[in-house]
Amino acid sequence: IIQVSQLKKSFGTLDVLKSVSFEVNRNDVVAVIGPSGSGKSTMLRSLIHLEQVNGGTIRLLDQDLVREGVYASPQQIKQITAKMGMVFQHFNLFPHLTVRENLELAPRTVKGEADEIVRRKSAELLEKVGLSDKADNYPARLSGGQKQRVAIARALMMDPEILLFDEPTSALDPELTGEVLQVIKQLAKESMTMMVVTHEMGFAREVAGKVMFMDNGEFIESGTPDEMFGNPQFERTRAFLQKSL
Ligand code: ATP
Ligand code: MG
Repeated sequence: IIQVSQLKKSFGTLDVLKSVSFEVNRNDVVAVIGPSGSGKSTMLRSLIHLEQVNGGTIRLLDQDLVREGVYASPQQIKQITAKMGMVFQHFNLFPHLTVRENLELAPRTVKGEADEIVRRKSAELLEKVGLSDKADNYPARLSGGQKQRVAIARALMMDPEILLFDEPTSALDPELTGEVLQVIKQLAKESMTMMVVTHEMGFAREVAGKVMFMDNGEFIESGTPDEMFGNPQFERTRAFLQKSL
């Protein structure tokens, strides 16, 4: 469902992604781990066209977003990325909108969905993330864990086929990470295809089917959690895990 090959991205003279290749299958839950500055966010952002890459191929849902460095048309890009959802470390909620309005904005304005449908969906999704009683609150009144659950519900409003998470719990106090990981776990049970950049090794181990280790702009190795945590093949992976576990 995601096929990436020889992806390259640089910022000026800094090569942030050096020929990154990987595949994600439908219903996979993939954890992406690696040191700070290794290019994890840049890789994820490239998949939804928040970054423009300098070379390589990204194929999403059997369509080329970019093929050997050449991007699809703006219209095609919009159509492809519309099937992707992303959840950020810092929630990125609209502060001047209530929780419900945060959820309903994009389906109304981008998709033009009918009020009745949008309203029903937002009610359902708030219930799913356990925040029905917060529908009319503004984000400033919510805890970090609640904000992140709103952000996940908001991403789900667009019926994404793939969900990307960039360190969804890194900005949270430890006691709030569990409630967010629980929601992601539930989505995994429902067979949502997800890529999760995370420092939560316990979560990666428990929920991910595949773990990919990125270092210095490259994927060094990937495997099942058992393989990666139990018997990493590369010294760099071993050194990183030793520091993180
Ligand atoms: P972290 O774990 O700290 O989030 P990361 O693996 O997500 O790190 P990236 O955010 O992808 O790393 O950054 C990779 C490199 O690219 C870093 O050296 C960073 O400074 C650089 N970088 C990222 N975004 C930009 C930008 N917009 N302009 C210039 N350099 C950037
Ligand atoms: Mg990052």
